[in-house]
Amino acid sequence: MKVLKFGGTSVGSPARMKSLLDIIDPTERQIVVLSAVSGTTNNLVEIGQAYLTGDKKKAIILISALKDKYELFINELFTNAEYLKQGKEVIDYHFALLNNLANNNFTTIEEKIVLAQGELLSTTLYHVYLKEIGVPSALLPALSFMKIDEDNEPIVDYITEKITPLLDKQPEVNLFITQGFICRNAFGEIDNLRRGGSDYTASLIGAGIRSEEVQIWTDIDGMHNNDPRIVKGTQPIAQLSFDEAAELAYFGAKILHPQSVFPAQKYKIPVRLLNTMDPQAKGTLITNTSEKDKIKSIAAKDGITAIKIQSSRMLLAHGFLRKVFEVFERYKTSIDMITTSEVAVSLTIDDTTYLGEITSELNIFGSVELDVNHTIICVVGDFGAEKHGYAARVLEAVKHIPLRMISYGGSDHNLSLLVKTDDKVETLRSLHNRLF
Ligand code: ADP
Ligand code: ASP
Ligand code: MG
Repeated sequence: MKVLKFGGTSVGSPARMKSLLDIIDPTERQIVVLSAVSGTTNNLVEIGQAYLTGDKKKAIILISALKDKYELFINELFTNAEYLKQGKEVIDYHFALLNNLANNNFTTIEEKIVLAQGELLSTTLYHVYLKEIGVPSALLPALSFMKIDEDNEPIVDYITEKITPLLDKQPEVNLFITQGFICRNAFGEIDNLRRGGSDYTASLIGAGIRSEEVQIWTDIDGMHNNDPRIVKGTQPIAQLSFDEAAELAYFGAKILHPQSVFPAQKYKIPVRLLNTMDPQAKGTLITNTSEKDKIKSIAAKDGITAIKIQSSRMLLAHGFLRKVFEVFERYKTSIDMITTSEVAVSLTIDDTTYLGEITSELNIFGSVELDVNHTIICVVGDFGAEKHGYAARVLEAVKHIPLRMISYGGSDHNLSLLVKTDDKVETLRSLHNRLF
């Protein structure tokens, strides 16, 4: 069975939703994962924020504006009065739920319920549309099989255990439709897999059912060799290894959710990135293998804070780095980049929730300096230890840009630079012009 995921723009209008059947073959048994209609999750974030800050009036106005958009959407999606009525019932139900939250004590638990409505709406409306045109399909409720644990880690075995009977129970159904992004947490509450999480849903389901292939259908013809929003003339990459794709996704290539490669990699499930607007384009195939001896792509991750711990006394002593890392472990803060010298160690984090606590604990070991508003530029390719010349080419391309940190050799696929965010655009463009 294949898993096909369609992102926000791929279901972004009634016309787009209708043309999904140019891609989906309803006679093949498959699971289709849908995101929310593009823009909806952003609108729901605003509604949640308004409620959280106690501005119920603003929340109700935002809900009403979003509902108007959906009224127009269903008027175009359905032609038959009976199905239009069903579509109307669907939106009435979800918008009544959003409005009724005004009567509750609103916490981050309710906020996540708000965020979940986008995928619930898109999948239910699509299911009703398929009924209207006579294409048999079944909804698979993601909240009954997609689960994260106390550390926000999804549980693949749980997915397998819960989804298998749902599929087995309906042998006559070929086309299963489910929600991306949403899940339940360790307390059974509605939660989500973070923004862009529908990719992660698709890969997790792919792993859970040991799918033959996961297809991520989006609005571009695969992973490009640089960020197309910033650099002109970027090109799609035909093949990537799981490791290369994981580095690019983690370090900012928005086309893939940062964690989405790992489940597919673990269960060796090929992932294809494909373009809904140009279904014939080859896209990108992500598997265990990829082209050798090449710089493949560049990505950038903003919002990085660099932390330097200087301690001539202690740095060379064994156990020093362990003590430093333990501080980050205690505050569940992951480190992205590390560089060391005799007298200091620099590392980067993106989650600054516990920065104050972390800094005061690190102060015990030495002096601590912070640099905010930095960006990691990640150059990905195949650069094994026996290869030479790649780092020189990268550094030559950025010789006019101040570098805060350089990391090379951590894996065979990654050379990372830390620059000021103000220098990001120039760094990406200069690397692009010199490397490709
Ligand atoms: P979806 O809604 O389908 O999940 P996203 O907006 O999350 O789509 O991801 C697709 C977008 O990712 C593209 O439109 C593109 O602007 C952006 N993007 C950023 N970096 C890259 C890259 N290296 N290759 C391709 N797309 C990228
Ligand atoms: N709708 C969610 C978001 O906008 C999930 C996704 O699109 O992947 O983040
Ligand atoms: Mg996305």
